[in-house]
Amino acid sequence: MSFVEAIAEKRDGGALSHDQIAAFVRGASDGSLSPEQLAAMLMAICCRGMDIDETRWLTEEMLRSGEVWNLAGDRPEVVDKHSTGGVGDTVSLVLAPLLAAVGVPVAMMAGRGLGHSQGTLDKLDALPGWDSTRSRDETLDLIDDCGAAIIAQTDDVAPADRTLYALRDVTATVPSLPLIVGSIMSKKLALGAGALILDVKWGTGAFRKTVASASELAVALRQVAVDTGVRCEALITDMNQPLGPALGTACEVREALAVLSGAGDARLRKVTEQLCIGVMILRGWDPGEATAVLDRALADGSALATWEKIAVAHGADPDPELLARPRSAIEVLASAEGFVTSCDGEDLGRVAVEVGAGRRRVDEELAHGAGVLVHARIGDRIESDQPVATLLVGEREVDEQRLTDRIRQAFTIGPERVDPPELILGTAENSAP
Ligand code: URA
Ligand code: CA
Repeated sequence: MSFVEAIAEKRDGGALSHDQIAAFVRGASDGSLSPEQLAAMLMAICCRGMDIDETRWLTEEMLRSGEVWNLAGDRPEVVDKHSTGGVGDTVSLVLAPLLAAVGVPVAMMAGRGLGHSQGTLDKLDALPGWDSTRSRDETLDLIDDCGAAIIAQTDDVAPADRTLYALRDVTATVPSLPLIVGSIMSKKLALGAGALILDVKWGTGAFRKTVASASELAVALRQVAVDTGVRCEALITDMNQPLGPALGTACEVREALAVLSGAGDARLRKVTEQLCIGVMILRGWDPGEATAVLDRALADGSALATWEKIAVAHGADPDPELLARPRSAIEVLASAEGFVTSCDGEDLGRVAVEVGAGRRRVDEELAHGAGVLVHARIGDRIESDQPVATLLVGEREVDEQRLTDRIRQAFTIGPERVDPPELILGTAENSAP
């Protein structure tokens, strides 16, 4: 079989065989297919789609392109969480210590910032000394020592994804559902936790702008996990405004510490707790009992104490006094009085990246004191002298006037109160429109 025939098959809307998909992924890993052929196949898949068998074969072949850690082989009780990405998404920093505090061990491979969203690894770098580079054995040691491992993705996990992702980026094929599923799930399944909870975001600040498209992604991600033998649930959550109030690195760590201390933002706490409950149900917990132990861990200091243990085990000093502070904090007043009717999280995320919480070039240094704090939420009543947000300026030189204008414009203020979108729509199945 020539690969040209496989491209033609998909171009004409046919289904690929497992062998054809294996040849495609092998070609991406070992260079045996040209970038032109890989790109043509990506575009054919993007335009024609894949059925669930093809999607699962693609995921499995991408997974086998590199190291398969299979943590559940040694620690079957370990769980993992993945978010499809958004802004103010401080969940991982709260979820890992909270689950560990109630005796549910966690392993997560985290990434750097992508586009307008801030990455968990970048946030952890705000803690002096945090080292996320771990081998499989070291990851097992971390899980045993402190109940959680938050580690950097290694180059050896799903290397085919790196090649394909780079090609997708320059061929307008990133949004393809089967390609997204293959990319996300190959990395998750390579880590190999025994249970996986997915936070699939929908809305203006998410990758999937409608409930229908987020649900479709959630169903496909979950199906591939379940068909591969991993217990998995997906929640569909709102990203029509930032989840938590902090967009940045050190400021998100501070917000996480607030939630872990039993205070902090109610929206962030609710989504984090529901994801914890979702994965605890997969591990056989009763939902009521799960809620009670999580609430207790937040109230009695054990979640915060577990965070400190996790930070120390990862090489960091957990003293919050050591977190970078902004050079200056500029309050951004509302453009008018009235009710907040929309809040463009994507643009606020871009402002956070520009001010120093992300990179505009791959080699740019972060300014850990920098970011954006959001004070006004959809549905809130705002007076014209009231701040909607605060711009935190760090070490990076920025045009403060332009950034504060952009922040102001990210909020729409109207005369009538609108209801904020539902924070949690449901699970992969019961939220389908
Ligand atoms: N995240 C990934 O890792 N891959 C995708 O394709 C999309 C989001
Ligand atoms: Ca379900």
